Amino acid sequence: MGNSGTLYVVATPIGNLSDLSGRAREVISEVDLVLCEDTRHTAILLRAHAIMAKTRSFHEHNEDKLLNWAMHRLRDGQNIALVSDAGTPLISDPGFPLVREARKQGLRVSPVPGPNAAVAALSVSGMPTHRFCFEGFLPSQSRRRQNALQALQNDPRTLVFYESSHRIEACLKDMVGVMGSDRPVMVGREMTKIHETFFLGTLEEALHFIHSDDNQKKGEFVLVVGGSQDVDPEWQRACELFDRLSSAISPSEAVRMTCETFSVSRQRLYRRMTEQTGA
Ligand code: SAM
Repeated sequence: MGNSGTLYVVATPIGNLSDLSGRAREVISEVDLVLCEDTRHTAILLRAHAIMAKTRSFHEHNEDKLLNWAMHRLRDGQNIALVSDAGTPLISDPGFPLVREARKQGLRVSPVPGPNAAVAALSVSGMPTHRFCFEGFLPSQSRRRQNALQALQNDPRTLVFYESSHRIEACLKDMVGVMGSDRPVMVGREMTKIHETFFLGTLEEALHFIHSDDNQKKGEFVLVVGGSQDVDPEWQRACELFDRLSSAISPSEAVRMTCETFSVSRQRLYRRMTEQTGA
């Protein structure tokens, strides 16, 4: 590693610009270069905090191309900060290939933690937080979204999703269809911004709330959905074993070994596998 620089992964506000931490401010001011998802967007944040910094755009369409260039700079001893438009980089945001490559090359990577919409929503949802499952954005196409939801419907963990204004209603409709009307949900909209709203109720009530008021369809959303209460412990343990096995051996072997260990149906495991892959 010698005198190589550090890649800082810096979280920035998800709405309220005052949520930039003191250390994030310091790091962004002091690094040689700030890689931004969108330089114009980051310029607003920098201006609000009177930060002078050299920025360069770095997003999913050019990140592979700029990878070697960034690695070269880090090896040369320069410090780089990676920021996204909002929240924590890499969380449903660009940056994964950059961090993976920096790690592969043994370079220093250091987090400057801060805002994240999923954790912010979860923290105020009143739902169990000891285990949760972050799914990011569901597929945009309804059939595939339903498949993804089916694979999650028996999961006992609290489920956290990101959703956009164009799909919030369709997404809630699919959730009602797959998970039933009565599941508890919290819809967190425009958190930390002027129009911050939280709706707590059942999936059916949330759908009605969003459907009947166009203003409630505007902005950015996090959906926190209660985990399944309808848990068959044998099936849960079988799924956990199957998931571990299938990352190492072929699906048919994984099914065979799971069915030898637990009394669960082969067809049900295959169906779950198909639903998860969306095949
Ligand atoms: N990296 C970000 C993070 O750490 O939260 C997430 C980026 S992702 C491209 C953007 C999505 O996050 C939005 O579509 C929305 O689902 C969610 N989100 C971001 N800011 C939000 C806010 N202020 N209120 C509600 N949801 C938000």
